[in-house]
Amino acid sequence: MKTKWFKGSSDLFQKTQRRLTMQYSGLLMLFLVLFIVVVYTLLYVVILRDQHRELENLTRQETRIISDYLADSARDELQGLGSQELVLAGVDQFFYYVTNAEGTFVTGSETMPHMREELFELVSGWVPEKNQIREETLQVTFDERRIGGREIKDVPKSDTVRLMIDGSPIFYNGQFVGMIYIGKDISFAYQLFKWLLIVLVSLAVLFAGVAVWMSYLMSKKAMGPISTAFQRQKEFVGDASHELRTPLSVMLSSIDAMEMTDGIEEDPFAKKLLRNMKSEVKRMTGLVSDLLVLARADSGAAERTLEQLDVRAEAANVIESLTPHAESNGVSLGLEAPGDLLVLGDRARVKQLMYILLDNAVKYSPDGGLVEMKLSQSDRYWTMAVSDQGIGIHPDDQPRIFDRFFRSDKSRTRTVGGHGLGLSIAKWIAGIHGGTITVESEPDKGSTFIVQIPNEQAVST
Ligand code: ADP
Repeated sequence: MKTKWFKGSSDLFQKTQRRLTMQYSGLLMLFLVLFIVVVYTLLYVVILRDQHRELENLTRQETRIISDYLADSARDELQGLGSQELVLAGVDQFFYYVTNAEGTFVTGSETMPHMREELFELVSGWVPEKNQIREETLQVTFDERRIGGREIKDVPKSDTVRLMIDGSPIFYNGQFVGMIYIGKDISFAYQLFKWLLIVLVSLAVLFAGVAVWMSYLMSKKAMGPISTAFQRQKEFVGDASHELRTPLSVMLSSIDAMEMTDGIEEDPFAKKLLRNMKSEVKRMTGLVSDLLVLARADSGAAERTLEQLDVRAEAANVIESLTPHAESNGVSLGLEAPGDLLVLGDRARVKQLMYILLDNAVKYSPDGGLVEMKLSQSDRYWTMAVSDQGIGIHPDDQPRIFDRFFRSDKSRTRTVGGHGLGLSIAKWIAGIHGGTITVESEPDKGSTFIVQIPNEQAVST
């Protein structure tokens, strides 16, 4: 025989704690994502703006150099201007081109001379509006890549280059003589954005882990006092039920003794009072013992003792002891089962489960009704189905009948006893065996309660 202790309703707390953890970590992650978006956007804007400013300064400077050069050499046109006459050495400058007033190429230079045609095509005829700066993406080949006339070897065959292009008109004595275009390589900035994103996302993943861990700790802390209070309340219910049992049994034996007292037989009023008292005390004893079962289940003090049992024999036994009660209500009981049905289970609990379902079936059956228990077994499960031809359960009530103290209105108006705890206990018993209990029912036609329990029981060591 193996015994397993059950934690009972700690499930509810675990679920709540999980939900709290998820909510806390969701909130933390939201802040994290917001932070990343803000940091990334800020850096993006600041870096690009800085490149803008640099390019604008460079263009302004070069325009002044050319204008000064024209003024110094008293030339009114750019034609014949050689690149050696200009000092153009901006950092990351990819190209510069000077055109005359008609837009024809005059002079220029670029880091990739083999791409001049393509690059000039980009700016040819472009008249920028005030402060307008263009951004272009260019696929470049590196076969002839030179920097300062020096050829660079061992570089990739092609790459994507991001260019920022600015243009400015050149004037001589207030007369428009041409344009200067400068292209700046800002690929490194985009490279930086890419790395920044990778670093930020990696940090986010790391912090997400920390956020979940912190949320777990926070939710655990938040749940602490609640679960302690709940634990105390469960202990109170358990203690109260336990303490009530003794006086109730004393009362019951006192009523029995009074019933046997001389003279009571002759006094119909006293007899009736005693009978009522006895039935109420019995009802209360049932309620207290059900409460005690559930309180123990909640507090984890309920134990499950597993042993090999023949479910068929147990069912026959329960039916036999319930037959007089069923017959007095005009209900007949039937059992359909295979030869023997050996399973591992807690004998007392399994029998209690059978009692609850059969007792309900009888309680809610009309006079002349038939209540049947069917047992069966498959490779993995054994099944018990208890069906009746009684009042049935309204579909709205079906999901609630396993709740504590739930009784349908129909049941309340009937004179049948009960306090709405039987099915909660049945569900708990099925649960501690790793099984389930479900109901199929149609109002005024009848109900079938189906319990399905695995043949093999996981036994804790
Ligand atoms: P009770 O002590 O009221 O029978 P239970 O927890 O056993 O408490 O059942 C809860 C409610 O489910 C009952 O009040 C009744 O409305 C409904 N019920 C349970 N079994 C049956 C059945 N066999 N037929 C119809 N209704 C049922």
